Amino acid sequence: MLQLVIFLATIAPVIQGSIRVLQTQGYKVTRPRRQVLGVLEEAQKSLSPYDIQKVLRKRGKYLNHVTIYRILNLFCRLNLAHKVLSVGGFVKCTMDKKEGCHRLLVCRCCGALQEFADDELCQRERKLAQNSGFHTEYHLSESLGICSDCSKKQ
Ligand SMILES: [Zn+2]
Ligand SMILES: [Zn+2]
Ligand SMILES: [Zn+2]
Repeated sequence: MLQLVIFLATIAPVIQGSIRVLQTQGYKVTRPRRQVLGVLEEAQKSLSPYDIQKVLRKRGKYLNHVTIYRILNLFCRLNLAHKVLSVGGFVKCTMDKKEGCHRLLVCRCCGALQEFADDELCQRERKLAQNSGFHTEYHLSESLGICSDCSKKQ
């Protein structure tokens, strides 16, 4: 179920996939959205809206950070990107559509991210919340710890 966050050079096809998601959900593929997607796609680590702004500025493009933040929130809603809760930055989603919310495992040594989804886990959480009369819309959770590479080195 685990899928490593791998940043390969195969950028274009993945962006195409994200663009397709935007289109099928009825969102326009505006130039700012395409630019933010591109930056996320190439990133080696999670990025804040200001980081993204900086990368774009180096390329002679300017987006204000409110616009970038709005775009990131949209991407998160569509599961194209995720917020790394413990860091506050954003990363591109690495999974194809999976049942259940996408969750991150964050290595506190090297910062590596892994992503998984488990619908049974979601259902169980939803049921627990229901016991308190709470209706869950989505889950945010991540695990902090040490990745397998780093634990081998220790
Ligand atoms: Zn994801
Ligand atoms: Zn690690
Ligand atoms: Zn869920």
